[in-house]
Amino acid sequence: MFESLSDRLTRALTDLRGKGRLSDADIDRTAREIRLALLDADVSLPVVRGFISRVKERAKGAEVSGALNPAQQIVKIVNEELVDVLGGETRRISYAKTPPTVIMLAGLQGAGKTTLAGKLGAWLKKQGHTPLLVAADLQRPGAVSQLQIVGERAGVAVYAPHPGTSVGGEGELGVSAADPIDVARDGVAMAEDKQYDVVIVDTAGRLGVDAELMAQAAGIRDAVSPDEVLFVLDAMIGQDAVGTAEAFSQGVGITGVVLTKLDGDARGGAALSVRDITGVPIMFASSGEKLEDFDVFHPDRMASRILGMGDVLSLIEQAEEHWDAQQAEATAAKITQGDLTLEDFLEQMLMIRKMGPIGNLLGMLPGAGQMKDALSQVDDKQLDRVQAIIRGMTPAERADPKIINASRRLRIANGSGVTVTEVNQLVDRFFDAKKMMSQMAGRMGM
Ligand code: GDP
Repeated sequence: MFESLSDRLTRALTDLRGKGRLSDADIDRTAREIRLALLDADVSLPVVRGFISRVKERAKGAEVSGALNPAQQIVKIVNEELVDVLGGETRRISYAKTPPTVIMLAGLQGAGKTTLAGKLGAWLKKQGHTPLLVAADLQRPGAVSQLQIVGERAGVAVYAPHPGTSVGGEGELGVSAADPIDVARDGVAMAEDKQYDVVIVDTAGRLGVDAELMAQAAGIRDAVSPDEVLFVLDAMIGQDAVGTAEAFSQGVGITGVVLTKLDGDARGGAALSVRDITGVPIMFASSGEKLEDFDVFHPDRMASRILGMGDVLSLIEQAEEHWDAQQAEATAAKITQGDLTLEDFLEQMLMIRKMGPIGNLLGMLPGAGQMKDALSQVDDKQLDRVQAIIRGMTPAERADPKIINASRRLRIANGSGVTVTEVNQLVDRFFDAKKMMSQMAGRMGM
């Protein structure tokens, strides 16, 4: 996502580097390149127009500042305008004063609502809430059972209209007619009754926008008076996003947007247009099919990523969540003393891998855009093999890899399903790395 846009913006801005002064012609040329990059990324025309005119105006009026050279100043302006177009401040859920908070999901079929219900449920649970998912999508065959599966995976209760399938075996909660409005209302009533503090109502979508769909969504909205109506938007739909967002915005009234499928190779136009078109902020982003592929949407971090400046804050947050400081410190001490073993190496690797796919992690670093080719080579499978090789060793071998002779190498290779060459490479690289790390530690006086 955003790769080609990011490449082009970065290129347009790097061209300015090294210029002591920017002429109006320089600014116009850069603005033109940015404009083309945005249009190619499927950003809607009015949004592009507004964006470019603001950038130009600010760039031409920019005071020469002591701290930034002219090119940096333009980068700063473009960055700020991107943050703005993406919604400015990070917007959090507004919870009801008296629980339950009701969150209604709306959007086209296939946008990712049901998947999102599970992700949001899991996320809320992690924040200490007790969410309840309500299956009010009675249109799409299998949507109810899909929500139940998702809820089970997320460890979150589900209220469904079929007997024997809702929370804790309490299937007969008076849901009789399969009317989505009743289901939604009863789901909320049950949350009040059983003290769930957030209710997520999954609703039906259609393949396209139609009046009946809107009427149903509006009916559900009136029945449950949601605190948030989240419009779920597939970021892959490109220009169609504009019409869909407008229709939901007018037909149902929305308070926030959730972008899904940001892991795809969409060009990013929907993400950059939707806030401007709907006037409501993007609140969450979904970037994969798994429960954990989900996060709060931070306009500033996204802008920074688009401009190839990395998303170090998200990286730090993920590290904090998974990093075991004590273990890391113990390893650092071992490195300084030259005592690092393959066991430590394996532990470190497992810790880092808990943070997510390695390509994603590296992708958050500044300059990742330019390393795209190298990053696509980073393969979690390769790490799996390294892990398998180390696991195929005995504790004595891991503690002291020097004892790994030819026959041991053959045994390890056979046991972990790799070639002897791969075992050799790993052991050699381990010794090289160990030597290098202890030299570096020595030099840095650690
Ligand atoms: P709904 O009709 O709006 O409820 O959509 P679903 O939740 O059933 O999602 C439709 C399809 O999109 C499913 O196959 C999901 O696994 C997939 N999906 C949902 N969110 C994402 C995402 O962020 N990334 C990717 N790659 N797939 C997603």
